[in-house]
Amino acid sequence: MKVLENPQDVGKLCQSWRNDGLQIGFIATMGALHEGHLSLLRRAVAENDRTCASIFVNPLQFDDPDDLRSYPVNMEGDLELCKKHGCDMAFSGTMESFFPEADNPHMVKRIDPGGCASDLEGVYRPGFFDGVVTIVDRLFRIVGNCKAYFGEKDFQQTLVVRHLSHQLKDSNIEIEIVVCPTVRAKSGLALSSRNQRLETCDIIAANQIYRALKKTQRAWQCSVRDRKSLSRTLRITLEHPLISVDYAEVRNPDDWSSMANQMDAAIGLVAARVGGVRLIDSLRLDQPACKTLHLT
Ligand code: AMP
Repeated sequence: MKVLENPQDVGKLCQSWRNDGLQIGFIATMGALHEGHLSLLRRAVAENDRTCASIFVNPLQFDDPDDLRSYPVNMEGDLELCKKHGCDMAFSGTMESFFPEADNPHMVKRIDPGGCASDLEGVYRPGFFDGVVTIVDRLFRIVGNCKAYFGEKDFQQTLVVRHLSHQLKDSNIEIEIVVCPTVRAKSGLALSSRNQRLETCDIIAANQIYRALKKTQRAWQCSVRDRKSLSRTLRITLEHPLISVDYAEVRNPDDWSSMANQMDAAIGLVAARVGGVRLIDSLRLDQPACKTLHLT
């Protein structure tokens, strides 16, 4: 596996692969890799001729300096895992190398993430999505035409990167977004790099998030189609002394509307703080549970 630090080298290698007629799979990560990331990597390796992964903790998407400082880093272990899972190239970089046109990271021109970004995460983490889109746009421009793999756990993010991929067509960059199922611990807790910061009592509380999503899914399976009552079920089931909910809502994943009450497709979305750690999760209510991958 090649390990590159310079975006120009990354671009050159990807272009040489394409010149040889090879299809590229790409995974953008912030490192501290776990089975969730690896499920994306395995799928990319299976579906493409060459696979590359970025490992970069993007400061543009953190509104809280403490959160950025305490974000787990394990570059050596991450590179080992990438190699073991068949990745052909992993790359990292610095703000300066990704954005050479900016005199300093504060001067980076942020990209508008579009309408889907304005609510939920957009409200609770102002600037988050424009930080995500600004780095993902740069990574897509470096890698070039590819299939890019993202996790459904961060569902709103998948809408935002899809919007970006449509915009990139104007620059003749073709990115196919592939959304992959959420990988969960046996308890149902969605795997996240942030889980490392949870104490045992927090993990027990955090398990309530998946229980609440499942209970809401069961309501859907019992033919409840009313958005407000599905959202109410989600919120009530989430009530727990150690959980502080930012939002818990049911939306139509196809039109992202928060207005229509009768739903023909639905996803439950949760962001909550447990023991000072912010966790997000989502679950399609209208799809069979086998879409979810559980670790055994
Ligand atoms: P991150 O390193 O947290 O920015 O995540 C990189 C990619 O991995 C994103 O597309 C995430 O949605 C995806 N991802 C993170 N956790 C999981 C998980 N538990 N299951 C599936 N994908 C995940």
